[in-house]
Amino acid sequence: RERARAVLEAAKRRDTNSLGVEAMDLLSAYGIPIPKGEIVDGTSEAREAAERIDDGDGVVMKIVSPDILHKSDIGGVEVGVPAEDVADTYEDLVTRARNYQSDATILGVQIQEMLDLDAATETIVGMNRDPQFGPLVLFGLGGIFVEVLEDTTVKVAPVSEPEAESMIDDIESAPLLRGARGREPVDEAGVVETIQRLSQLVTDFPAILELDINPLVATPSGVSAVDVRLTID
Ligand code: ADP
Ligand code: MG
Repeated sequence: RERARAVLEAAKRRDTNSLGVEAMDLLSAYGIPIPKGEIVDGTSEAREAAERIDDGDGVVMKIVSPDILHKSDIGGVEVGVPAEDVADTYEDLVTRARNYQSDATILGVQIQEMLDLDAATETIVGMNRDPQFGPLVLFGLGGIFVEVLEDTTVKVAPVSEPEAESMIDDIESAPLLRGARGREPVDEAGVVETIQRLSQLVTDFPAILELDINPLVATPSGVSAVDVRLTID
């Protein structure tokens, strides 16, 4: 809780209402698993971080800017970057961000562990404050599917364990998570726990107006919050 408060206060000091992957620690402070990652400033820092994080499949590199909400839309995400391409990719990401918006605030580049998405399902866990109902916790199919399929469900926070479980039942893609067509079922308990932890986080901090973990990557062996976006008061 104290760690979460520190992240939010740091953001306030930077005078911004919009936070991205620089707020990843907010999630881990509430026990939500996140991939290994570091935010770096400069190509040599990027190389060093990649060396620490790469476990054989390269790394993922993402532009970190409060002015860029959908990073992949502007070419701000590169996956599977091998060590020898890390420095060039760093420069490319910054150039693309500048081309998109010349005066964008660029906090750096995130170097993140590359996850194997073969047996994974990308889900979304989010929160929106409704003027009438208060904090609405959302769960659904995530990644690029979230807008296309709109397969999501909401509950008012705080969300209990049975309620979180029923949110999985509620979406049409539930069979996808539960092992349809010979797929291995994902770690449903991990998903349920993440829904509840997010619910707790937004209940503890009313200053969080909106929060999206998209995607929460769900695999048979666990879940991982790969991307986060929030707005604060
Ligand atoms: P944005 O939503 O801002 O475009 P994301 O961080 O969500 O950026 O990345 C976009 C997509 O890239 C994700 O939905 C996922 O498919 C893929 N991706 C992101 N991070 C990783 C990672 N660490 N390992 C594997 N794939 C990733
Ligand atoms: Mg995303």
